[in-house]
Amino acid sequence: NREIQLVERPTAAPTHEHIKIAETEKPEPKQGEVLVKLLYVSVDPYMRGRMSDAKSYVAPFQLNEPMEGGVVAEVVESQTDALAAGDIVTGMLPWQEFTTADPNTLRKIDPSLGPVTTSLGILGMPGLTAYFGLMDIGQPKQGETLVVSGAAGAVGSAVVQIGKIEGCHVVGIAGSDEKLAYLKDELGVDEVINYKTDDVPARLDEACPNGIDIYFDNVGGEISDAVYPRLNKFARISQCGAISTYNTPNAQGPRMQSHLIKASALIKGFTVGDYQDRFSEGFQYLSQKLQEGRLTYEETIVEGFENVPDAFFGLFEGTNLGKQLVKVAEP
Ligand code: NDP
Repeated sequence: NREIQLVERPTAAPTHEHIKIAETEKPEPKQGEVLVKLLYVSVDPYMRGRMSDAKSYVAPFQLNEPMEGGVVAEVVESQTDALAAGDIVTGMLPWQEFTTADPNTLRKIDPSLGPVTTSLGILGMPGLTAYFGLMDIGQPKQGETLVVSGAAGAVGSAVVQIGKIEGCHVVGIAGSDEKLAYLKDELGVDEVINYKTDDVPARLDEACPNGIDIYFDNVGGEISDAVYPRLNKFARISQCGAISTYNTPNAQGPRMQSHLIKASALIKGFTVGDYQDRFSEGFQYLSQKLQEGRLTYEETIVEGFENVPDAFFGLFEGTNLGKQLVKVAEP
C-alpha cells in the first residue's frame, strides 16, 4: 500500500525533493468505518499553500505524513450500514492507495449525473468556485465585459462559459495557443490572449473596447497589473487565486490600487467554503446547464499513483487543459 508524503517544505517551486512515495501497511477498517480504494486523485493549486507551514484557511500538511485532497474512491470493505462494498464515493482523503474513512466524511456519487470524475471538477469544488465567484462577487449583467485569467484551467474554463450564459463579452487569458483555440472554438469565448507571447496590455485594449466590468482573477501578478488600468466605473474583481505568486517567497503587491479608486471598483477575495450553505444551489445550476448542453468541460487525466506528484507540479507549468486528475486504479 503506497502513500505520498510531504518530507520537506518547499520555499519556491515544489519538486520531488519535497515529496516521497512510501510503503505502508494496508489499514483495517474499525467498527463504523469503511476501507476504500482510491480511483481518481485531484491535484489542486491550493495544495501548494498547505505544503508551507504559514497560517492559512486550511491546516498545513504534516511532515512525513501523507498529503491529502479530493478523491473518488470505491468502498471495498464496510463496517457500517451507511455504505456498502462497491459504492463509489468522493471526499477529502489521504493520498494512500487504500485508506480507511468515516462514512460521514464521504458523499456517495450519483453516476446518473455524469462520469464520476466530474465530482472533482465541473460538478465539484472547481465548478462551485467558478459559479459563486462569478455570480456572487462578479454580479454579471448582459453586455458587460468579463476578463478571466487562468481561463483554460478547471475553474477558469467554467467561469468563461457561465459568463457567456449570463450574456457577457468574455475575454480569456491563458498560456498556450492550444488553450486559446480550445477557449475560442470549444467554449465560445469572444476574445483570447496568450499572456506568454502577446502584448497583454495592447491585446486587452483591442479585446475590451468598452473597458472591463468584471475581472475573475486566478493568477495575480503582471496579468492583473495590465487589467486594473482598464477597469470601468464600479467594476468588480473576484479574487479567486494568485497562482503566479504561489512559488515566489515574499511576493510583493498589489500595487495598482489607484486604479481601483478611480474606478470605484470592488475587489473581494473568497474561498469556495464561504458558500457551503449554498452548495446545492450551485450544484443545481451546474448540473442543469451540463444536462442542457450549455456547459462543457475538459479533463487532463494521467495514470498511475506514482505520477500524482508530477501531475501536481504540472499545474505550475500549465501542462493541464481543464481539470487535472490522476487515475490511480480501476473500480
Ligand atoms: P487550473 O486548472 O487553472 O491549473 C492552474 C493553471 O494556472 C495552469 O494550467 C496554468 O495555465 C496557470 N498558471 C500556472 N502558473 C502561472 C503563472 N505563473 N502565471 C499565469 N498562469 C499560471 O487550476 P484550478 O482551476 O484548480 O485553480 C485556478 C486558480 O483558482 C488557482 O489560483 C487556485 O488557487 C484558485 N482556486 C481558488 C479557490 C477558492 O476557493 N478561492 C478554489 C479553487 C481554486 P496557463 O497554461 O494558462 O499558464
